[in-house]
Amino acid sequence: MTWENSLTTKLTNLHSIGLQRNLRIINDATKPFLLYNGKKILNLSSNNYLGLAHHADIIQCIRDTNIEAAAGMASSRLVLGHDEKTAQLEKKVAHQKNTESSLLFSNGYMMNIGVLSSLLEPTDAVLSDQYNHASIVDGIRLTKAHHFRYRHNNMDHLEALLKKATQRGVKRKLIVTETVFSMDGDIAPLHDIIYLKNKYHAALITDDAHGDGVFGSSGEGVTHHLGLEQEVDLHLGTFSKAYGVYGAYAAGKREWINYLIHTCRSLIYTTALPPYVVRGISKAVDLVQRGAHLRTILEKKSDYFRSRLNQAGFHIKGTTQVIPIVIGNEKTTLDFSKRLLDENIMGVAIRPPTVPIGESRIRFTLMADIPWEEVKRAVTIITMLGKEMDVI
Ligand SMILES: *Cc1c(COP(=O)(O)O)cnc(C)c1O
Repeated sequence: MTWENSLTTKLTNLHSIGLQRNLRIINDATKPFLLYNGKKILNLSSNNYLGLAHHADIIQCIRDTNIEAAAGMASSRLVLGHDEKTAQLEKKVAHQKNTESSLLFSNGYMMNIGVLSSLLEPTDAVLSDQYNHASIVDGIRLTKAHHFRYRHNNMDHLEALLKKATQRGVKRKLIVTETVFSMDGDIAPLHDIIYLKNKYHAALITDDAHGDGVFGSSGEGVTHHLGLEQEVDLHLGTFSKAYGVYGAYAAGKREWINYLIHTCRSLIYTTALPPYVVRGISKAVDLVQRGAHLRTILEKKSDYFRSRLNQAGFHIKGTTQVIPIVIGNEKTTLDFSKRLLDENIMGVAIRPPTVPIGESRIRFTLMADIPWEEVKRAVTIITMLGKEMDVI
């Protein structure tokens, strides 16, 4: 059999179980209304939670970058790719996360695979929430550490696995969790995780990808919002979601960051971010810090949207701006998403392997600048479709 024949067979199988995927051409994808197939569609699927991706001040800041000097860095961070603006940004991020130091990465995926594979050794145990992002899972897979996956947010299970790891005689233990879970919109029980971390002498890494910018009085993230940021050993997050730009960071005590500089392959063996991205992130941090009004309105709209759909009878997960309605069957979920699109609403279907089999869902996300009347109209249409399709 040729490779092409074999791939075609595999693709046919994926299609037959409702797992076809395609790249759609979308314009204005970060705005409250995107353009798709020439139609204006209400955008309920972007991670641009605060609307910063199209914020005039960030765009202006990027324009003001001395682009004539260089379009790219043409060097990795440890060779020639570290400059004053990058150093300033890393200070700013450390300050934002209330830590000693921070380190900039190309993106969140690379940050996670690099950080976990750099830290974890064969004699270590890593305890990872079952629903952690693929980039965390992949980072762990690159190591020979003892891998314990605990049931989602299940503290009894985490404790049982911590005991098991201790019995195995591992040298060090590391717990890793998202703060706001990207596909469930719920928040990790960080108080309890920290209690267990201390009880079993483990370290804790949190990925605040969906909490950064959205939680905390200055958008510092979920751990800060809960007053727990000093209990976390390493903070991870991305600048591609609420911050609206691109890139990612790790922040924590000097020893952690310094060790990453020495060993983290996804930092060492890749070219530094282009100057205009660094400038864009830096402005985004300022705007996030001053964005309390955006956080308030985002929370109000999210609460309204979630509670109305809940009342309508949908199976809603979470408590944040990530608002998934679980439909279950892969094909029905895809049909639901298509029907939404017919009504000019973008609600992307999330299917396995991103979520467990039988838990396919429409993952709605809100943005601060989606007009109130559109939030209300969307609730009406989603409810109508839910009834029509026997989902509620
Ligand atoms: C999106 C996401 C990432 C990846 O970040 P990028 O900067 O988009 O590569 C990592 N972790 C979590 C939890 C995420 O949701």
